[in-house]
Amino acid sequence: MMGGMSGQDYREWQLRSEFAEVLGSRTEELQKIPDATLDKDGLITCAVLPLRDLVVFPRMVTPLFVGRESALSALEFAHGAGQTVIAVAQKNEDKAEPSIADLFTVGCETVVGRVLHLPEGETTVLAQGRRRVQIVEYLPGESFLRARARPVYESTEHSRETEALMRAVLALFEKVVQLNRSLPDDAYVFALNVEDPGWLADLITSALGVPVPDRQRMLETFDIELRLQRLSVMLGRELDVLELENRIHSKVQSEVDRSQREYYLREQMKAIQTELGEQDAWSEELTEVKDAVLKAGMPEEVQTKALKELERMGQMPSMAPEVAIVRTYLDWLIELPWQKQTEDNLDLKRATGVLNRQHYGLPKAKERILEYLAVRSLAPKKQKQPILCFVGPPGTGKTSLGRSIAETLGRKFVRVSLGGVRDEAEIRGHRRTYIGALPGRVLQTMRRAGVINPLFMLDEIDKLGMDFRGDPAAALLEVLDPEQNYAFDDHYLDVPYDLSRVMFITTANTLGPIPPALLDRMEVIEFPGYIEQEKIAIANQFLVPRQLEENGLSRFPIAFGEDALHRMIRGYTWEAGVRNLDREIARVCRKVARRKAEGRKIPDRIDAPAVAKYLGPQQFFQLEAEKQDEIGVATALAWTENGGDTMPVEVVLLEGKGNIQITGQIGEVMQESAQAAMSYLKSRAKHFLLEPQRFEKTDVHIHIPEGAIPKDGPSAGITMATALVSAFTSRKARRDVAMTGEITLRGRVLPVGGVRDKILAAHRVGLKNVIIPRHNEKDLIEIPKNVRQELKIILVDHIDDVLRRALHKESSIPRKVGRKKRAPKAAAGKK
Ligand code: ADP
Repeated sequence: MMGGMSGQDYREWQLRSEFAEVLGSRTEELQKIPDATLDKDGLITCAVLPLRDLVVFPRMVTPLFVGRESALSALEFAHGAGQTVIAVAQKNEDKAEPSIADLFTVGCETVVGRVLHLPEGETTVLAQGRRRVQIVEYLPGESFLRARARPVYESTEHSRETEALMRAVLALFEKVVQLNRSLPDDAYVFALNVEDPGWLADLITSALGVPVPDRQRMLETFDIELRLQRLSVMLGRELDVLELENRIHSKVQSEVDRSQREYYLREQMKAIQTELGEQDAWSEELTEVKDAVLKAGMPEEVQTKALKELERMGQMPSMAPEVAIVRTYLDWLIELPWQKQTEDNLDLKRATGVLNRQHYGLPKAKERILEYLAVRSLAPKKQKQPILCFVGPPGTGKTSLGRSIAETLGRKFVRVSLGGVRDEAEIRGHRRTYIGALPGRVLQTMRRAGVINPLFMLDEIDKLGMDFRGDPAAALLEVLDPEQNYAFDDHYLDVPYDLSRVMFITTANTLGPIPPALLDRMEVIEFPGYIEQEKIAIANQFLVPRQLEENGLSRFPIAFGEDALHRMIRGYTWEAGVRNLDREIARVCRKVARRKAEGRKIPDRIDAPAVAKYLGPQQFFQLEAEKQDEIGVATALAWTENGGDTMPVEVVLLEGKGNIQITGQIGEVMQESAQAAMSYLKSRAKHFLLEPQRFEKTDVHIHIPEGAIPKDGPSAGITMATALVSAFTSRKARRDVAMTGEITLRGRVLPVGGVRDKILAAHRVGLKNVIIPRHNEKDLIEIPKNVRQELKIILVDHIDDVLRRALHKESSIPRKVGRKKRAPKAAAGKK
């Protein structure tokens, strides 16, 4: 007990000060009892009073609380006989009946008064210390201990050092009294008036709440100076603790003060706001928000959360910055659709009508949609429908068909583009602890939809990225998976959101980059590119009327001639879809509109020359078919995200050491395929009448132009072989023959992908002959009849068949350098 008095000590102190008068008269009574007399050895013999948690000092007046029988009989004996007792502390206060060994050997000869019985059933006796004694021996006793002891005589001399020590001790004690709230102020005054240094030390020791061993040590310190020194150390320690305590206390106090101050200020602010009428506005706003929450039709769990947030907001002052954050969150909860939905229109006849009215062709897609509707109308409960994935080049009507489906069904249409999304948080939102956090794109779009069952188009899922910020594809899986999406977990929203009634349609240009797990969830519907006739039909039926309407020309009898559309398709666009065609038609319409607005004459019919006039010089030239046959240049058919394309393969032979160089951003597979073609040629040198040494003296450079576009895949194998043979044998290659196919070392031709798009591309550029692997014959079913009629499609098994068709029979005068020719631009990588 360093920091203050123990409960017992404190009671003693109180007793002493409050009943000073009573004590005063009683101590007089005590004075009458004489000190025990010394025997011939200079010893005294007295009853021993063991003390449990107390040390009695000379001159101290102290009430003793007594419980033990042996102690009581010792006291009663002493009081009865008018004798003193030896009060001695026990080493271990837990011992109920201490033996001799349990007692310290230094005690205090003490006089005791009458035994008093207190109201609470305790027994007390007033005691006053007389002098220190050293116990010499215990005597065999009856019901209590007796001992012989030698009194300790203290010197009463005052050295200057003693004086200084007394002052120091007093100064310390003063501070302790100031800090220790359980010591009464008069304790210091009392000590100040004590002149005897030994007594001063004893007095202060007993006033301090130090533990028994420390007190006992002071009792055993007979040398006065040493006693004062020890006391000052003790006081110093006590002061340290008290100061620390005080610091902690005042810190706590200041915390309390601050929060009280804040509370006070807040209350004041409320009062001021009320005065200004703002509090009314605030509580009005709170009520409004609450109404909105209750009306939003949220599921119970969500509503509970919203109301909790609202309550939190209500406890903030209206101007707190956090209010805006909570408010935004609540607005999101309120404005998201929770129940509102549209009724599906599953009338198949009407659906067929709408789809055909709005889109030309696309039989597969339309058929699948009608099946979908049929299943829905037969099994309306069955919510889990496959997710459709529309795959095809840009501008082939994926988005606009999606819109039509929404219209047919009577659903809201919303779309979100996933192109370039790399961060999971873009799909799923940021946690609200982020500054400026918002829900992800999915829920933002749902809010825009305003109903729980829109037709939701996820565009460009093949352009989804992935990096260190998490995998957006994984989040997307959760969106699309019917097993999970009834409780979609957006990080911002923090409550589950049901997406199970949404009809998702995804779109992509190509299936390649789509993560397999995602692809698994979807049913792919291909949107092939259009051939020219289809484009013209689409333009006539849809694009032209729409552009005339949009440009305010629908009142005028303007028609686009077929020759004009042809010119636009061939000379101004280069695409599998019709997006650019649509744009060019719009450009023409704008020019016409401007003429009209300027009061000039406008034509009734737009023909090819008019197109040239309005659109300026032609952008693309379909030269492929018109190009001269050359040595070392053959035409490959390539496949890109934008559909099929043609691609020249050039070979140049240089004097050298038999090296092969391949340029034009060629991927690994394509390089290997070039090596295979070369090896095939070498192995057949004899057949082509080539001397084997020729290869050792020649460097071969294969180049595929449009070097900026990466190209890969094995499908240019037969084209490279053709160009190589052409270069080595000086037989010209026919440029009106386009080809695709993989080559083996033995010259066999293996099937490749994308044949339909490639054939359409060949047709588009006006080529007449197309060579494809025989195994790709099955793909021809997908080619429109008129294309098949206009093209000669040659099926081959072996490179010899290819060479027979693609090379001139006779060798021409050898020329070493092939001329470079640019093919029209295509937008993405070629395969
Ligand atoms: P995608 O989404 O495939 O890139 P869009 O749906 O945006 O292409 O189509 C581009 C434009 O072409 C739209 O204006 C669309 O109406 C039109 N279009 C495409 N295919 C057809 C078609 N088969 N019938 C009618 N219009 C079409």
